[in-house]
Amino acid sequence: MDGNGCQRPKPAMGAVFSQEFEYDGTMGPQHWGELYSECAGKHQSPIDINVLHVKEVTLPDLEWSGFDDPLDHVHVTNNGHTVLLEVTNEPHPAVRGGPLDSTYVFSQMHFHWGDNDTFGSEDKINHRSFAMELHMLFYKEEYGDAAEAVKHPDGLTVLAFFYELDRHGHPAYDAITAALGNVTEPHSSTSMFSSFTLSDLLPYELKRYFTYRGSLTTPPCSEVVIWIDFEQPIRLIHNQVGDEVYI
Ligand SMILES: [Zn+2]
Repeated sequence: MDGNGCQRPKPAMGAVFSQEFEYDGTMGPQHWGELYSECAGKHQSPIDINVLHVKEVTLPDLEWSGFDDPLDHVHVTNNGHTVLLEVTNEPHPAVRGGPLDSTYVFSQMHFHWGDNDTFGSEDKINHRSFAMELHMLFYKEEYGDAAEAVKHPDGLTVLAFFYELDRHGHPAYDAITAALGNVTEPHSSTSMFSSFTLSDLLPYELKRYFTYRGSLTTPPCSEVVIWIDFEQPIRLIHNQVGDEVYI
């Protein structure tokens, strides 16, 4: 967690392990450690990445599988903490290589955004916050599912992508933006039957990223996440940022 008292964005990963927490008041982040001991841990996310302190290393290429397959059914849920996208493709998309010593299987993806376009991302780069952040959550294949993987220190990897606003949007996001319009109320869900691929959602440059060992960003804050934050932001127009969804 960064120590600069940054304003936290609201939506989060809590969905994954459905814990009780809030972003304000007596259930807010300052109090998470009282209820969930790992939230007071030493390797908590999010962080503020200072590029001057990053060590440049060469890692094996990331290998992506299933990212170019059309997603045949996407289930979209506003669970009161975030908007979650789950896919039913078999086999599930997966990633390996880079800092990962094994195959990690896609579990779900979700977004973090703020009340306006000037902040919203969780991690920052050089104190800079982005309008929105996408987290794609994967579990280590040998653990079978995310619920089991969270019990192991190398259980999860999150691919994190930042968004910035531009005059030109990203066409693949039109379907997601439309779906968000159907889940503006907490605890609502919808299905998407459009033919985008996970690759369609990503930036062009995937070889440059920051990686570190951290945690889930919400309770239970388990320190089991290999973070991979991609440097190149995805460009969207304002209307494609989900800040009109209530969570
Ligand atoms: Zn997240």
